[in-house]
Amino acid sequence: MPEGPEVRRYALQLQDALEGEPLVALSARTKDAKAYLLAHGDELIGRRIESIRSHGKHLYGTLEGEVGFHSHLMMWGRWFVYGANENPEVDRRERARIVSPRSCAVLFSAPIFEIFEGNPYEQVENLRTLGPDILPYDGEFDSNEFERRLKLPENLEREIGAVLLDQRICAGIGNYFRADVLWTCQINPWTHVAELSRGEIACLNANIPLLARRSLEQPGVTVSPEQRERLLHDEALHYNVDRPEWAARHAVFRRTNLPCLRCGGKIKQKFQTVYKTPDGDEENDKARLIYFCPNCQHVDLSEVPTARVTRRKKPKISPVA
Ligand SMILES: [Zn+2]
Repeated sequence: MPEGPEVRRYALQLQDALEGEPLVALSARTKDAKAYLLAHGDELIGRRIESIRSHGKHLYGTLEGEVGFHSHLMMWGRWFVYGANENPEVDRRERARIVSPRSCAVLFSAPIFEIFEGNPYEQVENLRTLGPDILPYDGEFDSNEFERRLKLPENLEREIGAVLLDQRICAGIGNYFRADVLWTCQINPWTHVAELSRGEIACLNANIPLLARRSLEQPGVTVSPEQRERLLHDEALHYNVDRPEWAARHAVFRRTNLPCLRCGGKIKQKFQTVYKTPDGDEENDKARLIYFCPNCQHVDLSEVPTARVTRRKKPKISPVA
């Protein structure tokens, strides 16, 4: 699943391909965007594509005249940029296409693509509520705002492993990122926010932007250059010896039963409840696998709360007419 750094790479590719260019064509197959284009599509042709940005796992853009678009890739979506002359055929996975004189960006398989009038942060609720981006465009990671949101009364009794996936507290963290940043800071994923020490919070504040940068620069790599060297060259440290570069990206994520890079103990995996329905309807609680070193992260396996695991269904992609 694309996390903040993956979505940022798409945003940078689209920015490079489309920003400042006049719109040659825009098509969409998601229901509302399609309806909007049917009514207003012709008015958009020739308008300048002003900006394309990402915030957390959301990608959005603006056209001249206060029209915007927004996509969220969920589990399966991806953007692909083609050259002007490639003119790819439309296949059944295509959700949207933005064409400029020199490029063509196609969105595949994403359930969310919408077009709206006005400021994206006013029009798209999911953007408005996002916490500070793990990859800010300007300046440093807003650690004060992260800490303020983290310590809101409603979060104090939540587990840090769950809270890190909450995009309203910090935007862009997904499952590989949360596992590796908690390992880096030696934090037990089941620690309640109220019980985090000042040092642990300071460690998260320092390492969230650091790991995000690494992962942007080398796709998905959250380990340090030294750790990566060890992972690449010591076969005892990874599965899948055919593709060591792929298996050498993370410290704990998907390294179950392999030795910890810090202490040599065995990495473990457990389900953690990351979302509880407010009315106690367990059927709709969500659990995700968390990977950790019981030794370095002070996890007593006999005390790990049991998470109720329901099989995740693939969400329906909005109808294509
Ligand atoms: Zn360890």
